[in-house]
Formats: sequence, structure tokens, C-alpha cells
Amino acid sequence: MIIAVDGPAAAGKGTIARALAQHFGFHFLDTGSLYRMVGLAALRAGGEPIAAEAAIAAAKSLDPTAFADSDLRNEQVAAAASIVAVIPEVRAALLELQRAFARQKPGAVLDGRDIGTVVCPDAHAKLFITASAEVRAKRRQLELGAEDYEAVLADIRARDERDSKRATAPLVAAKDAVVLDTSGMDIAAAVKASIDVVERRRSP
Ligand code: C5P
Repeated sequence: MIIAVDGPAAAGKGTIARALAQHFGFHFLDTGSLYRMVGLAALRAGGEPIAAEAAIAAAKSLDPTAFADSDLRNEQVAAAASIVAVIPEVRAALLELQRAFARQKPGAVLDGRDIGTVVCPDAHAKLFITASAEVRAKRRQLELGAEDYEAVLADIRARDERDSKRATAPLVAAKDAVVLDTSGMDIAAAVKASIDVVERRRSP
């Protein structure tokens, strides 16, 4: 079984996807971390603005074990990820890796932006997790321990804009996705609602 969890930055999809994987005993892939690795590799290659060639080369030779998670979790790398994610060759290079992961037994949960639309259009259950930009900025501010709420909100909005407007695999809910707005929900409520969606898809 494949569960696709898509949505904008800081909507709660990572937390929900991890909880689903644990609940059902499935494998879990945070596909955003792949784009973050490519973004970081391109930054390290010295491009400012990021050179498409450096990003494509990094995507084609990606070694996921070469990056520490702590290096990937900052807004500079997040912004770089959303810049390299616009490049069709980067997306193509990461596609088979994600699909191979999704085929694992007994099942897999992948979270990202285009899992239900492009990577796994045949996923058995699709969730699109969203929340208002203001709520997402507040959550991200707490997570990063950042002082400047307005700066975090501006980053979130810039990333939403790039992710939604790009030509290849833009951020959009699949037609058969269940949309869950977590603005007024705590984590437990959002996880429970998501498990219920998957359970309904599992039962005939
Ligand atoms: O989910 P996360 O915030 O870590 O993703 C970082 C960036 O990677 C996103 O803003 C998006 O541009 C890109 N991404 C993507 N497709 C995915 C996952 C992430 O384009 N499936």
C-alpha cells in the first residue's frame, strides 16, 4: 500500500506522515529532504545564484548518507531546495529513487509536494495537508526558535509561491486527495483524522 501525503511547508505533513508510517508499520520517506540535499550540495558548489548545472549534477549523483539531518533543517537550505526543485532535470533525477522506495512491502508513506500527482499517481490513499500561511509561520518560528515572525512568514510565502507556480510538478492537491486543513487542529487530532482517511481507503 502507498500513502501519499502532500502539502505546503510547515502544514504538519511530516509529523502526520511519520505517524501514519508508525501506525501501519510502513516505510517512510521525507522527499523534501532529497530536494534539501540537492539544494545544499548546489550551495556548497558555490553558486549564488544557484547554478542549474551544479544542481542537476548533484541530483544525478545523490548520496543520501552524505548529509546530516541537522545541516538540512534551516531556512537557507529550504529556500535552496525550492529553487532547485523548479529544475525539471533535478525532479527527473529524483523520480525513480522515490518510486523504488514507494514499491517496498508491506507499504510506504511518502511526504512531499507532488507525491499524489506525479511520483505515485496510483497511491491507494492521498492526503493533502494544509493550513493558513500565518499558522504555518507560527509553527515554523517555534520549530526554528526564530525571533522574527514576519521574516519566517515572508519565507513561507515565497516558498509557497515558487512551489505552486512552477511549471513542472507544481504543488497542487490531486483530484482524488482528501484535503485536511490543520489550522485549528492539534497534532493528535490531525493524526487521528489522517488515520481515519487511510482506514476508509483500506476497507473495501
Ligand atoms: O518538505 P520540505 O519543506 O522539506 O521541502 C523543501 C522544498 O523541496 C519544498 O519547498 C519544495 O520546493 C521541494 N519539494 C518538492 N517536491 C517534493 C518535496 C519537496 O518540490 N516532493
